[in-house]
Amino acid sequence: MKYVIIGNSAAAVGCVEGIRSVDRTGTVTVISDEPYPVYSRPLISYLLCGKTDEEHMKYRPDDFYRKNGVKVLLGRKAVGVDPRRKTVSLETGEQVPFDRLLFATGSHPFVPPMEGLESVEKKFSFMKLDDAKALGAALSEKTRVLIVGAGLIGLKCAEGIRGRVQSIAVVDLADRILPSILDAEGSAIVRRHLEKQGIRFALGDSVARFTGRTALLKSGGKIPFDVLVVAVGVRPNTRLAA
Ligand SMILES: Cc1cc2nc3c(=O)[nH]c(=O)nc-3n(C[C@H](O)[C@H](O)[C@H](O)COP(=O)(O)OP(=O)(O)OC[C@H]3O[C@@H](n4cnc5c(N)ncnc54)[C@H](O)[C@@H]3O)c2cc1C
Repeated sequence: MKYVIIGNSAAAVGCVEGIRSVDRTGTVTVISDEPYPVYSRPLISYLLCGKTDEEHMKYRPDDFYRKNGVKVLLGRKAVGVDPRRKTVSLETGEQVPFDRLLFATGSHPFVPPMEGLESVEKKFSFMKLDDAKALGAALSEKTRVLIVGAGLIGLKCAEGIRGRVQSIAVVDLADRILPSILDAEGSAIVRRHLEKQGIRFALGDSVARFTGRTALLKSGGKIPFDVLVVAVGVRPNTRLAA
């Protein structure tokens, strides 16, 4: 049996371990467009604040793939699936044959259309190790950061960078932070805690337009910034399976 898994994160690892619990002999190929062995995605904020490093972010030991007899193709994007011929085509032109295929492709950051976004020079998402590295490289103690989105990912980002920058402002359409996981009381407690650490919030508000390094808010307010992080949510990577 030839198993192929597209993606190399939490779901893929669970699948490899599941396959090997019932089939020790089939071939398993993991295809990942990221260049790294599997790492713990939630730790990217701790990488930025120095609480961890890449070595300690590893989600499985270095010998995970070898011990499980997995051929891992890193830094290679799957661009098509032919269900009749049972092949996955890679951006490199390679064809990978399969008997069983898992789409473990996760999600990508959703960036809503925002007027003037193209005028913002330094803008980032916060989902991948490479996002964290790129963001980290753009920061200094003089940097003013604007985060759009007061959900888990936006606030994890704020937590990761707060000791490295001059200021952080967070804008969210909702009237409270972490609106999908906390009620009003819990949200207010966490908000006060973050405000004590210097993080400012503009809630029940949104960016009407960007002009370079200024965000003009719907309320009429203005937030000057140097670096923008957009963290308003994710969308599933379903294109390959469509
Ligand atoms: C900052 C942050 C903090 C988080 N904190 C928590 C937390 O505290 N608790 C919690 O439960 N969850 C948390 N999460 C969410 C958690 O990381 C995800 O739920 C989890 O990573 C999902 O795993 P997955 O394997 O489904 O997909 P993903 O982790 O999204 O991985 C999918 C992989 O597939 C790759 N891929 C996609 N398309 C292709 C293609 N065409 N070809 C090749 N490769 C492809 C992607 O590059 C990616 O490497 C957090 C996420 C972030 C970003």
